[in-house]
Amino acid sequence: MSKTTYYFDNAATTPVRKEVLDAMMPFFTENYGNASSIYEVGARSKNYINEARKIVSDAIGCYENELFFTASGSEADNWAIKGVAYSKKSKGNHIITSAIEHHAVLHTLEFLEKQGYEVTYLPVDEYGQISLDDLKNAIKDSTILITIMYANNEIGTIEPIKEIAKIAKEHNVIFHTDAVQAVGAVPINVHELGVDMLSLSGHKFNGPKGVGALYIKKGLRIDNLIHGGAQESNRRAGTENTPGIIGLAKAIELATTNLNEKIERVSKLRDYTIKEIEKRIPYCRLNGHRTDRLCGNVNFSFRFIEGESLLLMLDLKGVAASSGSACTSGSLDPSHVLLAIGLPHEIAHGSLRISIGYQNTKEEIDYLLDILPPIVERLRQMSPLYDEIKGDL
Ligand SMILES: *Cc1c(COP(=O)(O)O)cnc(C)c1O
Repeated sequence: MSKTTYYFDNAATTPVRKEVLDAMMPFFTENYGNASSIYEVGARSKNYINEARKIVSDAIGCYENELFFTASGSEADNWAIKGVAYSKKSKGNHIITSAIEHHAVLHTLEFLEKQGYEVTYLPVDEYGQISLDDLKNAIKDSTILITIMYANNEIGTIEPIKEIAKIAKEHNVIFHTDAVQAVGAVPINVHELGVDMLSLSGHKFNGPKGVGALYIKKGLRIDNLIHGGAQESNRRAGTENTPGIIGLAKAIELATTNLNEKIERVSKLRDYTIKEIEKRIPYCRLNGHRTDRLCGNVNFSFRFIEGESLLLMLDLKGVAASSGSACTSGSLDPSHVLLAIGLPHEIAHGSLRISIGYQNTKEEIDYLLDILPPIVERLRQMSPLYDEIKGDL
């Protein structure tokens, strides 16, 4: 394994906390029983899963019978969207979303479009927020679902979820939010928010990968996505991922205890990073909202450079970060999120996302701030466009 010393890609995934791993370990060994079995070692697992369900439910403010474990955030999004689409087919075929959703939502909707569903993709403003008037205007008689993310994974912008929920309710439309980036970064109470469904994922808040959950409001019946056994009250089949569920519960408990303190500390680091980059690097643009923003998100576009080259140079210095472009997934198109906030292609290509986690320190940020300006300058020296601009100054 190569050593990554400075990890600033916490929006992609996070390290599992030691307390989380410790809580999980016994469920690979002595507590290995199948939770659906009647004998003691199985029943024991069942009890622990129910305790975990209570912890996760408390963390997001729902009842235990409203929370269902899944194998990922992507699965929770798929289930919420396809579940409503199929079960409410007789009511209508129209779904409203935003242009900046995660692919777990966007690609699910594209799949449904091929089956005859109609999808409205609401535009966002230059900061990445939808307009509530646009939303109201998009709702029609055939609208069965609104799915809008709580907070964006690339630019960190937080959407007006409570207001959206109110509009959805007034029009009697089901509202799902992908809160995968928000859980552990924003205080959340689903009942106060008034959302009908909410997705979360363990590995985004220092829990294990491959486990997530979907909150489904009491009384709301949607089609199942995974068919098979009677697990999760007959609503999501598959032998329970006991270690994963225990890990997710421990992680959410840790992530939401003293959350306001964490938010204050991490947003201080974020604001410091933003301020220093703006001070030290010319021709840069902060992407996303200045205040309605995830506490750990920093996203900049640097003119005259390629985000991919920047990432490679940072990697050579032991820094892990992410770029707004989707080059890593085999496509040369810039990120749909950066295009949706109105960035021209060439600027969207030169983007850098630094996502700060609870474990990052000011010393690590200072290291990044020391190495970043000379790297940007070096890459710019290789750009013919930059030469021209400098000649003009
Ligand atoms: C990571 C992420 C997902 C997918 O979650 P997985 O557990 O990795 O499948 C969905 N939505 C958002 C906003 C994300 O950041």
